[in-house]
Amino acid sequence: MEKYHTLGDREKATRIRDKKLEKEQERVRVKYHKKQTAAGKRHLVGSLKVIQKRGTSFCCDCGAEKKIKRFYAYYDDVGELTKLFPDCKKCNRRKHRSGRFALIRLQRKNCLEHYGHAKEGKLKCASCKNRDFDGLVLFNPRYKNERAIATERTYKKLSNYRYPEIEYKVLCGRCAYKRINSRRK
Ligand SMILES: [Zn+2]
Ligand SMILES: [Zn+2]
Repeated sequence: MEKYHTLGDREKATRIRDKKLEKEQERVRVKYHKKQTAAGKRHLVGSLKVIQKRGTSFCCDCGAEKKIKRFYAYYDDVGELTKLFPDCKKCNRRKHRSGRFALIRLQRKNCLEHYGHAKEGKLKCASCKNRDFDGLVLFNPRYKNERAIATERTYKKLSNYRYPEIEYKVLCGRCAYKRINSRRK
């Protein structure tokens, strides 16, 4: 950490640092777009001032020309563009979601493999020997209602805590609900 004598010094230093960072980001952006254009993939986007004047920008993912409204953007007090996301809102959302689902899928797979003591292809339901991986669930026999069946949150927690020693069973969805219903009677 650097030392500052007064609060004013510190503010000044942060302002200078922010400006430097912004300039660097802008340089990287323009460089990236030039490279993409040279490869024949994308259109030249130009600097933020040019974009604001034109009113439209090109999405880096789908390549379509869209209005600035369709991008996530930041403005300063005067109303000038200070930051613009390279992808349009639609593409951004899609990417975000696919990433999230990929993580959930991985966490679920890891949990099932750990508590089922087998690899993905060899996992099966403990009671009916069903091998359909998408239909398998983690079942906690301690609970007597639907809480016994692990949810997205459970898989997340288990992988974050490095798979604690809990007696889980790997069952298919049908067998899990059969058990719960038989206990209710
Ligand atoms: Zn797009
Ligand atoms: Zn089963």
